Amino acid sequence: MIQFTSHGDYGNWVDNKWLDSSSENRISVISPYFDKQIATIPDSGKSDLDIAVEKAKSAFPNWADTNIRDRAQIMFRFKSIIEKDMDNLAALIALDNGKTIADAKGSILRGIEVIEYATSLPNVLNGESSDVGPGINCTMTHEPLGVVAGITPFNFPVMVPLWMIPLAIASGNTFILKPSEQTPLAGLKLAEYLKQAGLPDGVFNVVNGAKTIVEALCDHQDIKAVAFVGSSNVAKIVYNRCSQNSKRSLCLGGAKNHMIVVPDADTDSTAKGLLASSMGSAGQRCMAASVAVGVANIDHIIDQLVEEARNFKLGVDMGTIISKTALDRITGYIDEAEKMGAKILVDGRNNSPPDDYKQGYWLGATILDGIDPDWPSAKEEIFGPVLSIIRADTIEEAMKIENNNPYGNAAAVFTTSGQIAKVVSEKASAGMVGINIGVPVPRDPYSFGGWNESKYGHGDITGKSGVEFWTNLKKVTARWPESEEAWKKYF
Ligand code: NAD
Repeated sequence: MIQFTSHGDYGNWVDNKWLDSSSENRISVISPYFDKQIATIPDSGKSDLDIAVEKAKSAFPNWADTNIRDRAQIMFRFKSIIEKDMDNLAALIALDNGKTIADAKGSILRGIEVIEYATSLPNVLNGESSDVGPGINCTMTHEPLGVVAGITPFNFPVMVPLWMIPLAIASGNTFILKPSEQTPLAGLKLAEYLKQAGLPDGVFNVVNGAKTIVEALCDHQDIKAVAFVGSSNVAKIVYNRCSQNSKRSLCLGGAKNHMIVVPDADTDSTAKGLLASSMGSAGQRCMAASVAVGVANIDHIIDQLVEEARNFKLGVDMGTIISKTALDRITGYIDEAEKMGAKILVDGRNNSPPDDYKQGYWLGATILDGIDPDWPSAKEEIFGPVLSIIRADTIEEAMKIENNNPYGNAAAVFTTSGQIAKVVSEKASAGMVGINIGVPVPRDPYSFGGWNESKYGHGDITGKSGVEFWTNLKKVTARWPESEEAWKKYF
């Protein structure tokens, strides 16, 4: 049960304490379960950022000099504090974002995996050293950058910040988080946990706000790197703005993930895989497969999928949509596809809201068949619980459809044929591929990141690639005196 609770008026988190913003403008945080304000945050401006950056800058030298083992110990404590407070944190995510409690907990656990990887950084950042010539030795170490920042989306208020914070901080940087203005509360909770874990003042800071503060982060000359996760159009804006400021950035964007379904696939697990991938998190995740490309006749799989989708319960199997605006956008895609001639196999517009949350923004699982690859529902990111089915005659045709989509986050194939699985995984134009897995999120130490218009910048956000993003390589080449006199005189 999600309880309505009011969280009052927040400021920013700077130097391990709350700080009022100088901005008069406030942003309302609305719970999508109740259509009611649960908190307000400041729409911070450049002067708020300047204060946070100043504190982060002063904290950097000591933090960068802190032994990597001690930094990792703080990550161990951070992990255990989150685990102990899991119920409260999950309830806050649910209230703020609209997830079910089970979904919220699942997302926290995935974020914790990145903290676990950060605890292993003493083994990852141990440098390299070898003799490269007579009497000449080279060592290579990862050095922190300084003050760095992360800008995050609404859909995973804890998991996505945790893709960034543990690796950036454990690598020795000081950090400024700009959480989504739609779901900022859980990110602020992370600040309190980090303080409890013993993180020194100024190492982690949160500046709330929206477009103005994002632009200020991109422009600030003392911020050395920005990681962004959100929609592709904003990812591109942030990437270009950071590049103009000669700032390193990695910007993950939106997605339109395709699942290629072949008749020889196992019926039960494929139907379940399609459903979980397209409807999990109410379809509001960049790993949601929102298009199923059925090769030849896959009606036996679709029949089971439809039956299972009809049993999907709002508030139990699926949470809410984030906002009324998003709900209208998503139903707009369904209305339009219907007008264009789509067959609506399951219509989520007809679902009634759960009794306890009648004011919430609800939409049931929706499955559209007979979608043309050129329709908006096939090409654009709907970001809701809507699965579009496109029919293809051959694997080649299916791969053409997948390859033509401008995004490239993930793709999946459901088949029992090794040959087909191999061809699809080789030909898919996507950074993450699933074979009989609908949500192919790589587990650490394998890194997370897409291709094409799902990502601007080089590398991935987690795993070793994430550490590379938050650090610079230093190479030291040394030659020592070889004369016997030099050492003999001391023995
Ligand atoms: P969004 O792009 O609207 O917002 C993301 C961040 O950008 C927020 O912090 C927001 O304040 C800021 N922002 C929004 N508009 C801006 C503007 N015009 N200028 C500067 N900053 C701006 O995204 P969202 O709606 O919060 O999240 C959903 C999107 O995120 C989807 O497209 C989803 O696919 C994507 N996403 C991608 C990944 C990934 O790993 N690729 C993961 C999660 C979400």
